[in-house]
Amino acid sequence: MTIEPGAGTPEAAWEAWTALSALPVLDLEPCRRAVVLAPHPDDETLAVGGLIAALLAHGTTVVLLAATDGEASHPGSRVSSPDQLRAVRAAETSAALAALGAGLPGRLVERRLQLPDGGLTACEDELTSALAPLIGVDDWCIAPFDGDGHPDHDSAGRAAAAACAATGARLLSYPLWLWHWAAPDDERVPWERAVRLPLADEARRRKREALACYPSQTEPLGPAAEDAAVVPPSDLAYFLRTEEHLFA
Ligand SMILES: [Zn+2]
Repeated sequence: MTIEPGAGTPEAAWEAWTALSALPVLDLEPCRRAVVLAPHPDDETLAVGGLIAALLAHGTTVVLLAATDGEASHPGSRVSSPDQLRAVRAAETSAALAALGAGLPGRLVERRLQLPDGGLTACEDELTSALAPLIGVDDWCIAPFDGDGHPDHDSAGRAAAAACAATGARLLSYPLWLWHWAAPDDERVPWERAVRLPLADEARRRKREALACYPSQTEPLGPAAEDAAVVPPSDLAYFLRTEEHLFA
């Protein structure tokens, strides 16, 4: 994930907006298998780490499809090259998934497409073609909201919608950047489709543990501005809530 510089909507503003906690609750019972699409390593944990842990606790099979390895998170860095970031971030995802799923009955499968970070718009058809064979008619596809505001996220959302239209799978979309740029009751957001997933203590604990597996994004790589944390504490706060939110 890349957050634009500047302050986003403070988490306190979202917390004070009571409409969020009045949203309908997502029922996980019908889900037998889920394919989670992550444009960048960390998107899956930030947005739906609790959902992944909850599905695995129910014995559901979860497939993570990592579209890119996130090599473009620190383009001006003198500390980490894109090749180093690629290796570090892929390893962070594996560690995060292990934290989300360790000892749970559900099967967790990780697949990497290694498409170019920052270049998913040019690969949208390729992404749809890779995704479609992985999702069956009874599966859930959990993908970024196509209006999230990051070109890779929006493209991944469109690719997932196309794959679901072709296969008949159920599409659920997760917002991520949206919490930063939107505001409570924002007219640009389809709140009428929003649902919430209250997280059990165990799922929250696993999510926190998984988030801690991403220091390349949540901590500075070095003292230079180019090496600043991509997800500073003010943004990380959106993803430490007791509930996760999706568009159904
Ligand atoms: Zn991202």
